[in-house]
Amino acid sequence: MAKVAIVTGASRGIGRSIAKRLAADGFAVIVNYAGNSAAAQEAVDEIRKADGEALAIQADVANPEQVKQLFEKTVEAYGRVDVVVNNAGIMPLSPIAQGDLEAFDKVINTNLRGTFLIFAQAAKHIAEGGRIIAFSSSVLAKSFPTYGPYIASKAGVEGLVPVFANELRGRNITVNAVAPGPTGTDLFLTGKSPEQIAQLSKLAPLERLGQPEDIANVVAFLAGPDGGWVNAQTIRTNGGFA
Ligand code: NDP
Repeated sequence: MAKVAIVTGASRGIGRSIAKRLAADGFAVIVNYAGNSAAAQEAVDEIRKADGEALAIQADVANPEQVKQLFEKTVEAYGRVDVVVNNAGIMPLSPIAQGDLEAFDKVINTNLRGTFLIFAQAAKHIAEGGRIIAFSSSVLAKSFPTYGPYIASKAGVEGLVPVFANELRGRNITVNAVAPGPTGTDLFLTGKSPEQIAQLSKLAPLERLGQPEDIANVVAFLAGPDGGWVNAQTIRTNGGFA
C-alpha cells in the first residue's frame, strides 16, 4: 500500500509543488485547501495526469472540527497517514503601531493555531516512522517593518517544533520546519511593486527568487528515506537570504 501524505494549502504556490513532488515520489497525497476548490482540483488533475494518486479535501487549518475531519477523511480514503506537511499560511502586513488586531488575530489563527491543531491531529493519526513538516519563514531574521504579526506567528511555529519532537519520543517520528526565503508565489508577489520584487530577489547571494520547486525539494528530502536523521530543526531554505 502506498504511503500517504497530507499537504495543507496545496491548491496553490509552494503547497501545490510539494503535493506534486510527493505524488511523484510515490505518496498518495491529500491536497488540502481553504476556499479555492477549482485550484485544488487543478492540482489533483495535474497529479493524476502524471499517474499519481491525489484527493482534494477542504479544511480551514484554524478550525478544530475541520482539521479533525481532514484527518478522518484521509484515513477513510487511504487508510493511513505517514507524512503531514502544514504548509498553509497567510501574510497580511501591517505596522504594529496601527494596532490592527483583526489582521493580527487572522495571521496568528491561520499560521500558529493552525500549526498547533494540525500537530495535535497528526499526533493522533500518524503512523510509526512518520514525518511532520511545518512552515516558518526566513524573514524572521530580517525584522522588516510591517512583518510583526507574521513574524510573531512563525516564531511561534519554530517554538512548537522541538517541543513536539520531544513529545513524540519513542514513535520514530521526526518533526521539522522549513523556512523559505522570498519565493515566487501569490503570497510573496501580491501587493509588491516590480522594484520591490527585484530588490528582494537580489538579497540572497544566489540573486534570484526561490521557486516553489526549490522548497518542495527540501520537503521531499525530509519526507523521504534520506531525511530520517534530521529532527527538531528549522531548515532555512533561501539561497543564503540570511
Ligand atoms: P500562497 O498564498 O501561494 O498559497 C497559500 C495556500 O494556503 C493556498 O493553497 C491556500 O488555499 C492555503 N490556505 C490559506 N489559508 C488557509 C487556511 N486557513 N486553511 C487551509 N489552507 C489555507 O502561499 P505560499 O505558497 O507562498 O506559502 C506557503 C507557505 O510558505 C506559507 O506557510 C508561507 O508563510 C510560507 N512562506 C512563503 C514564502 C514566500 O515568499 N512565498 C516565504 C517564507 C515562508 P486557497 O487556495 O484555498 O486559498
